[in-house]
Amino acid sequence: MSERVWNPIETAPVEEIKALQLARLIHNVYHVYNNVPYYRQRMDEAGVKPQDIQCLADLAKLPFTYKQDLRDTYPYGLFATPMTEVVELHASSGTTGKQIVAGYTQHDIDIWGDCAARAIVAAGGSPKSKVHVSYGYGLFTGGMGLHYGAQTLGAVAIPVSSGNTKRQVQILQDFESDILCCTPSYATYIGETLRDMGVKPEEIKLSAGILGAEPWTEDSRRNIEALLGIKAYDIYGLTEIIGPGVAYECSQQTGMHICEDHFLPEIIDPDTGEVLPEGTPGELVFTCITKEAFPLLRYRTRDIATLTREKCGCGRTLIKMTKPRGRTDDMLIIRGVNVFPSQIETVLFQTSQTSPHYLITVDRVNNTDTLEVQVEMTDDFQFDAVRLVEQKQHEIEAALQSTLGISPKVRLVSPKTIQRSEGKSKRVIDKRRLYE
Ligand code: ADP
Ligand code: ZN
Repeated sequence: MSERVWNPIETAPVEEIKALQLARLIHNVYHVYNNVPYYRQRMDEAGVKPQDIQCLADLAKLPFTYKQDLRDTYPYGLFATPMTEVVELHASSGTTGKQIVAGYTQHDIDIWGDCAARAIVAAGGSPKSKVHVSYGYGLFTGGMGLHYGAQTLGAVAIPVSSGNTKRQVQILQDFESDILCCTPSYATYIGETLRDMGVKPEEIKLSAGILGAEPWTEDSRRNIEALLGIKAYDIYGLTEIIGPGVAYECSQQTGMHICEDHFLPEIIDPDTGEVLPEGTPGELVFTCITKEAFPLLRYRTRDIATLTREKCGCGRTLIKMTKPRGRTDDMLIIRGVNVFPSQIETVLFQTSQTSPHYLITVDRVNNTDTLEVQVEMTDDFQFDAVRLVEQKQHEIEAALQSTLGISPKVRLVSPKTIQRSEGKSKRVIDKRRLYE
């Protein structure tokens, strides 16, 4: 018995999905080749014509698209439809450098709404749901994506946007929303605010959270679930492909199903560009096969993940991706060692009296990289007991050293001193960039 799904394609036989993919891929390669001079030139240079794409494996013949291509053609150089057909624009929040612009036709918006609706249904939502959207509304895709999803489903979209966190709690209580959509960082902040206001999770009606747009750990999931009394589901997406809803978690919570009837995924070796077999971790690459206005071919996400077609207990047959551990450009290389901020979070969740709030500062002193981690302590930690403070510092330093393989300096800070995030959290200050 499979669980309820929004779109029948989610449980279609794999052969049917693949046939659909091929037809759509061929169609869209022609669309791009005929309408985007930049792509035509890149394909000509690579010696590949649209007619060379005859099976799904032929995808590997197409050139990659990099973020730099989007910057070089900023703002509209990769649009494949005239602006008269475009009904909406979004931009990436510019976390890593200059922003990029994505355009949508009405058809593209409809696809987006459908994908986000799948995510809401997978999280237990229905047309009866009230969906509280605390992702930021604006050029960032988070807000509008889940908004369209809720409306496509026939549920109620509540466009609260991010910010004014006490008011968020008030609205959750008064409007009786059952689904919360925001980043995991903001869900933590809302949960802490609920607790500080003396509101018990039972006093709100939330049953699920659809949380994404940034990497988060399983520990963080459990923390949010306890704070808000919900089941927390992951959702993945990026502006370049469509926004949130490229992939979403189901009841099994063992990876996210990719809307592969719209976005063809590949995993490649980031160094050689070679396509890797299923089950091998590598860089996630997407090809849009149904979008009209901004259909990227083989877009290099820089997110590291693994794909699997293993049968999922939910009954969906769409391929699954693992939670991305972070973008390759979020990864810090400190004294030659690769460090993901999430590894530090994992250690903090295993240490008593620490909160999951931390700030990493990387610097370079006398040609050597230094790593300092500020760790926020819980209310019951006694800062006036000097010996205890030192002991705790050393305990965390040793735990980080054994997890990361490099020794950091830990500084304990008082509760609520590390800035909370209403959107994507910023946990790293890399001062080395100043010298580059
Ligand atoms: P920006 O590029 O400015 O951060 P986007 O919102 O387009 O703006 O960011 C998309 C990126 O966010 C993805 O490439 C990925 O790195 C990250 N991301 C999105 N959802 C998730 C998720 N569920 N888990 C981990 N990372 C995520
Ligand atoms: Zn599933």
